[in-house]
Amino acid sequence: MPLATSHAAPAVPPVDETLMRDTIRTLSSDEFEGRGPGTAAEPKTLDAIIARFKAAGLQPGNTGPDGKPTWLQDVPTATITGTNRSPLTITGGAEALTFKPSSDFVAGSYRITPHTEVKDSELVFVGYGINAPELGWNDYAGIDMKGKTAVILVNDPDYAMDGEDGLFRGRRMTYYGRWTYKFEEAARQGATAALIIHDTFPAAYGWQVVESSWSGAQHFVQTANDGADQTIANGWVQKPVAEAILKAAGKDLAALTAAAQTKGFKAVPLGLKANLSFDNTIEKANSHNVVGLLPGKTRPDEYVLYTAHWDHLGRCKPDASGDDICNGAVDNATGVAALAALAKMSRMAGPAARSQVFLAVTLEESGLLGSEYYAQNPVFPLAKTVGGVNMDALPVGSPAKDVTVTGGDKSELTAILHKVEAEMGLSEAPEDHPERGYYYRSDHFSFAKRGVPMFAVERGTDLVVGGKAAGTAISDDYTNVRYHQPSDEYEESWDMSGMKQDVKLFYRLGRELADSALWPNWHPNDEFRAIRDKSLAETKGK
Ligand SMILES: [Zn+2]
Repeated sequence: MPLATSHAAPAVPPVDETLMRDTIRTLSSDEFEGRGPGTAAEPKTLDAIIARFKAAGLQPGNTGPDGKPTWLQDVPTATITGTNRSPLTITGGAEALTFKPSSDFVAGSYRITPHTEVKDSELVFVGYGINAPELGWNDYAGIDMKGKTAVILVNDPDYAMDGEDGLFRGRRMTYYGRWTYKFEEAARQGATAALIIHDTFPAAYGWQVVESSWSGAQHFVQTANDGADQTIANGWVQKPVAEAILKAAGKDLAALTAAAQTKGFKAVPLGLKANLSFDNTIEKANSHNVVGLLPGKTRPDEYVLYTAHWDHLGRCKPDASGDDICNGAVDNATGVAALAALAKMSRMAGPAARSQVFLAVTLEESGLLGSEYYAQNPVFPLAKTVGGVNMDALPVGSPAKDVTVTGGDKSELTAILHKVEAEMGLSEAPEDHPERGYYYRSDHFSFAKRGVPMFAVERGTDLVVGGKAAGTAISDDYTNVRYHQPSDEYEESWDMSGMKQDVKLFYRLGRELADSALWPNWHPNDEFRAIRDKSLAETKGK
């Protein structure tokens, strides 16, 4: 503890290691079968979380259809599996082109509908498919996409830069570089379909990853309009397929790519038409988020979040010993244990100025669906939600001297983090792989994309005991041997001291938000600034 700051640091209630161990041991036991949503393990898991929230003195955060308080929020989902896939045919060139499903292209529907058909839809090359008003960049400027199919480059215009100084932060991935963004924007533009051109280097994974993740079931949250505001079909094409299509239009992919990297690029209609179709098998299901509340003392209608996903993979591929339970001890019984510990600590400290919400979300492993559903249907208004802390997979081992921030310096939360780091004597380590866009791939992102700033902070690898060698060894063991495998199991021998430090950090970050009157915003050039400004302005107007 640094002497200069220790006397100024606010008191932090003790982190209950016994509670954390008990929570991890219970949730990751074989009896809980890996916490697959919709399985017999779900009610057991929900009960275990509710029991801990009750013991901590939280209130049920939601209101049921009967008007009574409830701990649960229903999360209705739809799973869509495509079958009877036609080829992708392209007409309008000298001769028709035909491409095979799986090996040449993949496509799926975001609409809940039994049959998908794209018929004679005009192809338009839209560069990176980005509309970023805060950067003065719009690849769709002056083009009406109704009825048309967008052909889109993967990543963003300056991904190949070494540093992070470009308009799209150079090597660092922005949301505009994520494939999910490209489909969302194509839908906002009213496009009939969107096809992303796969390219291994900027995508950071090979075609087989695209092929396998798009050939099976796709999971969505149910919406009132069954996805009618989405495109009819979304998909990917192999790079040689895109080259062949552009050649048929008398264009060159390399030349168009270069043009698309320049500000002021204009989308290029290709004079070709796309056709494809497939059937969809639809299964509807229901899972649950758990919502606990500690009401605030002076501003109870303003909210600060702690979030952690409770679900894991359930029964999975057996290992050599025949163990087929992916227990998910680190991922993410540790995060739920932190949630329980934070609830207890927050209650012990007495109410903060603002209300604190403890949210255990479901279906993270199926694509952030529990947090997505909450963010689409917030129990507490997002415009009244100041920010929060997401917790996913706390490493075993000793405390670290540093913390790693996922996503970089995106918002005014950075100043709060720096204050708490100084208080705890922690330094900040740069993110290992800023080009992978991890900020856009965990539950905090469901809130961030709707404007709510969220901390995504992890313990660094420079450990107090054993330094970087020990930290890297723990991280490699987890990534290579345990992550998403039956071996992600709890052991009584676990060193919990690092996790306790993490919880202390999360406590302080949440408490800083909950006791202040600040409304930390995204930095002016950030991709989520505009949506936050809009929601805060609407709140003020009320
Ligand atoms: Zn996780």
